[in-house]
Amino acid sequence: MLKKLDASKNGLTSEEASLRLERYGENRLKEEKKITPIEIFINQFKNVLILILVVATAVSFAIGEITDAITILAIVVLNAILGFYQEYKAERAIEALKRMLSPKAKVIRDGKIKEIDSALLVPGDVVVLEMGEKVPADVYLIEAGALQVDEASLTGESVPVNKMTGVLPEDTSIAERKNMAFMGTVITNGYGKGVIVATGMHTEFGKIAKLTQEIEEEETPLKRRLDILGKRIGEISLAIAVAISVLGIIQQREIVEMFLVGVSLAVAVIPEGLPAVVTMTLALGVKNLVKRNCLVRHLMASETLGATSVICTDKTGTLTRNEMTLVEIFVLSQLIEVTGEGYEPRGEFLSDGKTINPEEHECIYKLLETGLLCNHAVLEKTEQGWTIVGEPTEGALVVAANKAKIFRKDIMPQLVTEFSFSSIRKRMTIIYHYKDRNVAYVKGAPEVILERSAYYCTENGIKQLGESEKQEFIRIYEGMAEKGLRVLAFAYRELPQDKKDLHADEVEKELVFLGIAGILDPPRPEVKDALATARKAGIEVIMMTGDSPLTAKAVAEQIGLHSKRVVTGKELDEMDDAELREVLKDTRVFARVNPSHKLRVVKLLQEDGHVTAMTGDGVNDAPALKKASIGIAMGIKGTDVAKEASDMILLDDNFASIVSGVEEGRRQYDNIQKFTRYLLSSNFGEIIAIAGAMFLGLPLILLPVQILWMNLVTDGLTALALGMEPKEKDVMERRPRDPEKPILSRHAFMAISLIGMWIGCATIFVFTDYLGIGLDKARTIAFTGIIVFEKVNVFNFRSFRHNLKGIGFLTNPYLIEAWLATVFLQAMAVYLPFMQTILHTVPMGVSDWVLVFVLGLPLLIAGEIYKYCRRCPPKCGIP
Ligand code: ATP
Repeated sequence: MLKKLDASKNGLTSEEASLRLERYGENRLKEEKKITPIEIFINQFKNVLILILVVATAVSFAIGEITDAITILAIVVLNAILGFYQEYKAERAIEALKRMLSPKAKVIRDGKIKEIDSALLVPGDVVVLEMGEKVPADVYLIEAGALQVDEASLTGESVPVNKMTGVLPEDTSIAERKNMAFMGTVITNGYGKGVIVATGMHTEFGKIAKLTQEIEEEETPLKRRLDILGKRIGEISLAIAVAISVLGIIQQREIVEMFLVGVSLAVAVIPEGLPAVVTMTLALGVKNLVKRNCLVRHLMASETLGATSVICTDKTGTLTRNEMTLVEIFVLSQLIEVTGEGYEPRGEFLSDGKTINPEEHECIYKLLETGLLCNHAVLEKTEQGWTIVGEPTEGALVVAANKAKIFRKDIMPQLVTEFSFSSIRKRMTIIYHYKDRNVAYVKGAPEVILERSAYYCTENGIKQLGESEKQEFIRIYEGMAEKGLRVLAFAYRELPQDKKDLHADEVEKELVFLGIAGILDPPRPEVKDALATARKAGIEVIMMTGDSPLTAKAVAEQIGLHSKRVVTGKELDEMDDAELREVLKDTRVFARVNPSHKLRVVKLLQEDGHVTAMTGDGVNDAPALKKASIGIAMGIKGTDVAKEASDMILLDDNFASIVSGVEEGRRQYDNIQKFTRYLLSSNFGEIIAIAGAMFLGLPLILLPVQILWMNLVTDGLTALALGMEPKEKDVMERRPRDPEKPILSRHAFMAISLIGMWIGCATIFVFTDYLGIGLDKARTIAFTGIIVFEKVNVFNFRSFRHNLKGIGFLTNPYLIEAWLATVFLQAMAVYLPFMQTILHTVPMGVSDWVLVFVLGLPLLIAGEIYKYCRRCPPKCGIP
């Protein structure tokens, strides 16, 4: 097969790979039909408002109001173009996200293991397959260590299939092709290496071309809530329309005028710009989240992230740096200190301060050798220094062995099989055929390995492991863990040669215990502050680690995570839900947990109304990640399966980034609330003005085109700018938002009503005031007045809590720009003859402008007083 593909076990060279990339194309599946720009444009016309406006255009045309008809049509098209632009940009942002989500693969190029984008793989490449990863292309296996693959995505069969090397007849069916691993299937156990035989659409998966879309574009709860709001507004408008019609009949008004009023009202009631502004704000927000290393997999995630009330986090790599160094070894009864820094394989082994040579100590040597062989990590020297490809824990073991001059290339054992590590088993075994024997090399959590050991290693040979030796190992293990070290135990067992079908339970028993090693993984320095921020923001943080209780406790203390006690997975199993609920009240550290415990905790927390964020990296974490309100997969150490089950990928695996993401999520939701309320208060003002004028028996106060102009042109711009409002200073000092709370609280509804009343009444006031001069003049002043009131009013909505002085007048430059632009546009609307014809306006004098600004000012003053009193009620005489 290698010959056929012109490849070798050592992989391709970079040059050859790029030549083949040109020949075979990228290793991608063709996308499912994407939404085309034309479809996006057509979608803009699929809404009720457009229907109303089309009817309005037709009627205006029929009654001879040609300019009106054309103007309405022009505004409709302009609105569609704006909506298209915003939605198109949002689509593009999602596309970019998809590209960032493209998976990585480990490949051997130029004789070295490299991690590259899976899309760049070519036939002939040799790839390494590890547990939890998705097979990146169709691979012919050249090495398979207990490799098991879940092929459900291809064959529908969910029982994992054992894979092996060897030649099979050409006509073997896909399900029977044990010597192949297929694109899109998932490695559930073991380790493998293979040469790629097909990429992209030429793979078996490509042939059935069933692409599971990476990003589901679900409706966000926010959108749903906005839709409900929209419906309610629709009902209100219908009621108003009926009332106005009845009134019209009573007042014996003309049919044409009544029609215009109806259209004006319909246009005034619907916040036309809202959906587009929401989409745009969320799409822009996605970019901001990426800057904070949070890659959300759908738009909804940022909104949920902002409401997070509990974060359940792993320890290793999330709270700690995941830069591991082996610092201590204990073999009975010798404690050895290992010196050296980072991954550089240089350091000494010290016993009582004196340098020793591990080669002269059998147990130490054997321990280091086991660490090296029961391992998949590769140590490499790059331009940036020494790095590891693979798991840092295993990397630390390679480094330690290399420090003792033990190298894999000198041993070159023959792999027999492997029982992979999982967070449930908490151990790992690799069996090699070595020096004419089959030997099982085992490593894992100390208590797990001790439980399976019957002997132990001494300088004078192997001895029976008695209770006192076990206690001694446990004592040292606890001492290491109390210092916050990650502790691993090592053991081996010689197996009978002829044994063929090897089972983990049979192999991992009666082991010869070698000793334990303490690995240093310092906490991330930024985590302490992030925890303090989370605490202030009313967010509970719970550590759920697979590591030992003592290590977990020590690390928790180092980072300032205080927990009344540490509960282990075993203890958790013995509790019923009521007990666990009680424990969750004050326990912040859970240790030796497995993914099923995570799932149980998430379920309980969510039942109690918490919005729970949960981190995870392994295959088994998928159910908990799916269940969590926001499942967070690790970007660096996370498996493909965990990433696919998640709502968000943490690009730098760093806990601090989650907290930073929550802050951004809160800002975005705040802003959506701000512009929604702002737009509604403006619309309400318009309704009051139109309906009020009708009740007072006045002529039509605002024409449909004028309302369209203000809702789509002037308000849309300012609303979008309000969506860019920077975060409020105390955004992380508030308690998490209740996700069930509607966008419009009773409080907000009151405020919007009062503001709307003022806007509406002030508009009617100027209209009646100028009516004596002429209807066109009065309408122009009312039209400009209402826009100016809305522009003054927008400053009220920059924050619901803080005064302008507190937030700073110029802190949102977009708003200032949008503000100036809209006032300028309105001046154009009034002074440019061509605009005058379209919008039925006449020129305004300076005093007219002054009047409307002065009438708008009380809105701002009242808003400022209200906020001041809300912050310090006693100063306003409020108890
Ligand atoms: P977290 O859940 O916070 O990421 P963790 O990585 O320590 O913590 P697990 O991966 O479940 O959690 O590891 C649990 C224990 O299993 C570790 O404390 C260690 O003793 C052991 N262990 C970890 N990695 C390996 C490995 N590659 N091989 C064998 N044993 C391991």
